[in-house]
Amino acid sequence: MTLIDSFGRNINYLRLSVTDRCNLRCVYCMPAEGVRKLAHDEILNYEELLLLAETAVAIGIEKIRITGGEPLVRKGIVAFLGTLSQISGLRQLVLTTNGMLLPEMAEGLRKAGVQRLNISLDSLQPETFARITRGGDLERVLCGIAIAEKEGFPIKLNMVVMRGTNDDEVLDFAGLTMVKPYTMRFIEYMPTRKEPNWQSLAVPGDEILRRIAGAYRILPLDRDDSLSGPAKNYRIDGAAGAIGIITPVSSHFCSECNRIRVTSAGKAKGCLFDNTEYDLKTILSNGNRAALEKALRAIVDRKPGKGFIAEKGSNRKPFDMSKVGG
Ligand code: SAM
Ligand code: SF4
Repeated sequence: MTLIDSFGRNINYLRLSVTDRCNLRCVYCMPAEGVRKLAHDEILNYEELLLLAETAVAIGIEKIRITGGEPLVRKGIVAFLGTLSQISGLRQLVLTTNGMLLPEMAEGLRKAGVQRLNISLDSLQPETFARITRGGDLERVLCGIAIAEKEGFPIKLNMVVMRGTNDDEVLDFAGLTMVKPYTMRFIEYMPTRKEPNWQSLAVPGDEILRRIAGAYRILPLDRDDSLSGPAKNYRIDGAAGAIGIITPVSSHFCSECNRIRVTSAGKAKGCLFDNTEYDLKTILSNGNRAALEKALRAIVDRKPGKGFIAEKGSNRKPFDMSKVGG
């Protein structure tokens, strides 16, 4: 079963946010204070999340990424992932985390059947890391990454590159792939909150690549498979790991977009940069599988051909990424 949208794209990837809450407050993701947390009964419960995942897989979704907020702060998440991984037809169950709880949870995640982790890591300097995350503990995250690696997880690290904040570490992160079998992904900073100074923070993907190519010989790599994301992939000659550059701002990848999203409140979105949301919570709380299937198909049918946020003409309202799921 395949889900093809009105632009001929095969939609096989669902990003599912399980919470809006987080144990960090990254500067690019949410404001320092004043964020209203959703009440317990406003977010999808595990039964509803499972129904959503099963129905999505039954109609053509093959990959589910669990995200948040910070997914690992949600009580009962490991047991839920164990149930999710059993869904017949689900080819990939992956998770994005800030890594703070990995030291104690990596083993459980592996046993639950999570296949891959994307870990956000914006600096290798403790003070810079704490500043960006507003209080994160770099040592804890590095320890979590090491434990996850020992557990056998393939590791992808995500760095949001910001000029004057952490862009001086691009080569350090690229160099890490010489010794570690990690995929290091450099992500353009997206002005999701439309801060007036956002342009001064942005480092375009081609500049990131130029800087790495100035220091190392880099070779292009093919995309992993039909389920892989929008990164352009490279390997430094002789490296153990790989490099990905993700350019949601400077170069759209809409023609290859294969995803839909559902927020922890049950709002489905065909595009991160489109204001339209479809409320699935009522359908899910009624347990109505047929209505849910119809709603999911309608979201795919109405998925916009392209979306943008950083250009003139974008009508996207400002939002916190923690509310949508990144
Ligand atoms: N808490 C988890 C984490 O940080 O990995 C998962 C949720 S977080 C919202 C998902 C991803 O969105 C992270 O990799 C984060 O770096 C990215 N992100 C958040 N705000 C962003 C922004 N303004 N521009 C680019 N990436 C952003
Ligand atoms: Fe939390 Fe992830 Fe947002 Fe950072 S990027 S504040 S870790 S949800």
